Formats: sequence, C-alpha cells, structure tokens
Amino acid sequence: MAKKYSKNLNRVQSMVDGTYGGKIQSGYTPEAEPERKVGDKWTDSDGIPWEQRDGYQVKGRLATSDITHQSWDRKCSMCESLILKPWDKDTHKADGRCYHCQLNYELDLKFDKPLRWFAYRRLKELQNMKSIEKEIIQWVDELEKQKQEKIFDMSVANAMANANVEMSIKKNT
Ligand SMILES: [Zn+2]
Repeated sequence: MAKKYSKNLNRVQSMVDGTYGGKIQSGYTPEAEPERKVGDKWTDSDGIPWEQRDGYQVKGRLATSDITHQSWDRKCSMCESLILKPWDKDTHKADGRCYHCQLNYELDLKFDKPLRWFAYRRLKELQNMKSIEKEIIQWVDELEKQKQEKIFDMSVANAMANANVEMSIKKNT
C-alpha cells in the first residue's frame, strides 16, 4: 500500500518535473497547444469545454461557457440523462436527479432501507425547517424593530409629557 502510494507520488512528481510523459509515453508526441490567455475558452476534441485561468486551466462545468454550463448542470446525477421535462427539473433542482431516478431512489430507501428513508425524510424536513426558520427570524426581527420604534415613540411622548408637567408646575408657582 505504502509502496503504491510512493509510486504514485513519484509519478506526480515527475509530471510536475515534466519527465513523466517522456519516460512512459515514449513515441507519443503531444500536439503543440496554442498559447492561451486568461479567460480564453475552447472545446476540445471530446466536446469538453475548457477555460484558461490565471496559471491553470479548468474544464467541464467549471469552464464558464454559458451554453455548455447549462447542459453540464442539468444532468441527472444518477443516469446522466439531460434534464428537460418540467417534472425532471423539479426533482433535479432539489436532489440533482431526474424524476425517474428520484422516484427509484426514494422507493429504494423506503422499502429496502427504512432507517435511511427515515434519515432522508428527516434531512428534507430540516432543510425545509431551515428556510422556515429564516423567515421566522426575519419576522421576529421585524417585530423587534417595530417594538423598538414604539418604545422610542413612548419615551419621546413621556419626555414631552414631563416637560409639559414641569412647565405647568412652573406656571402655577
Ligand atoms: Zn436519472
């Protein structure tokens, strides 16, 4: 295990040094890559989008070509089919799966793994709770603000009333 690890480490090291390709893939001459500027976007022969960042390149969903971005995002995480139908979009938004896979996933949990199903439902509930909780916090904040404003109004009213009392006392003496 440790041997394998160090072997891989050596490979990575030689890749960094630029000696890996020369040793293992002798006879293979990589095509000269055109020089890329930061922000350059292109698609390789496999149809995978790339983008040049400052000092490195990103591919796939990280490359920010708008057209490819969508199709990369809208794929079922289980069967990899494209998410096109509205009911697919619905389940995909929540769980990253198409409707069919989501149904299978839930049924699988429900009948084969009741405990996992319970945990899954609980997680969903908590996720819902979180958004509800956020709303409640906002609501309480709003109430608190209104209360503060009221207290402020009251103190102003009291101050004015006290001033009046003082004035009338002065007048009477
Ligand atoms: Zn699917």
